Amino acid sequence: MPEPSPVVISSAANPEIKALRALESKKGRSEQGAFLSEGLRHVVEAVRRGWRVRRLVLSESAGSGALLREAIEGCRAGGGRVLTVTDELMTRVARRDNAQSVIAVIEQRWAPLDTVRAGPGVTWLALEGIRDPGNLGSIVRSADAFGVAGIILIGHTVDPYSTEAVRASMGSIVNVPLVRLDEHGYLDWHPGWGGRTVGTHLAASDRPESITRGPPTLLVMGNEQSGLPERIAVTCNHLVRIPMRVGADSLNLAAATAIMLFAVAAPADA
Ligand code: SAM
Repeated sequence: MPEPSPVVISSAANPEIKALRALESKKGRSEQGAFLSEGLRHVVEAVRRGWRVRRLVLSESAGSGALLREAIEGCRAGGGRVLTVTDELMTRVARRDNAQSVIAVIEQRWAPLDTVRAGPGVTWLALEGIRDPGNLGSIVRSADAFGVAGIILIGHTVDPYSTEAVRASMGSIVNVPLVRLDEHGYLDWHPGWGGRTVGTHLAASDRPESITRGPPTLLVMGNEQSGLPERIAVTCNHLVRIPMRVGADSLNLAAATAIMLFAVAAPADA
């Protein structure tokens, strides 16, 4: 079995550690085209799904075992390097007291727009201007659970590869293809989408139960503050509103998305 490097890095000034910490910022992530993933289980899932692990950072106390071997072999097979750091440095890198003993630098992936295709039972999710990384991570997690084909991020959105979004996705970030588009790009592309488009709007009168499961569906959710803009709402064949108590303002975006995905996309074998 290939062993991790015997050199144990203890300094935050080490260039490898500096490059890794640069991934905490959006600028660093877009410059390097990579993101951080914490925890052995999530890293192994990424390796199994064919993601390229550029660096695998292990704390001294990471131990051994079949999963760790799989992560190390997966990293090296893709040309990545394995580094060992002191437990103290791992806590600083992870910025948490209960730091995971494994952190990976994984290459970002963006799916091309022509992969968004309608087909029987296929659901795509579109998020307009989503701002909150915790919401986005939770939505990726729900999208994975409901078997969504992928997520289209429209306009200026939070980075799905931010550490907070990746954490909130609980590993699902490697299971859900992501497409990004500006609003013009969406409006140009949409007429060629071969399925129905279901939007969510607080002023809609139809309820989610009016939507049958099965036809290819694009589910469109609006921004946390301002909701779905009219320009995008007009691209929807159906607009629905999840019923709420009279006087309630609105649902949290991630909660509303999970309810809508259950309505339009819950897998038949659930
Ligand atoms: N003030 C905003 C508005 O007027 O739309 C509230 C936006 S809400 C917090 C964010 C998004 O969550 C909405 O654009 C919609 O996609 C979804 N949402 C929230 N509550 C909903 C509900 N009761 N029915 C359908 N969608 C809802």
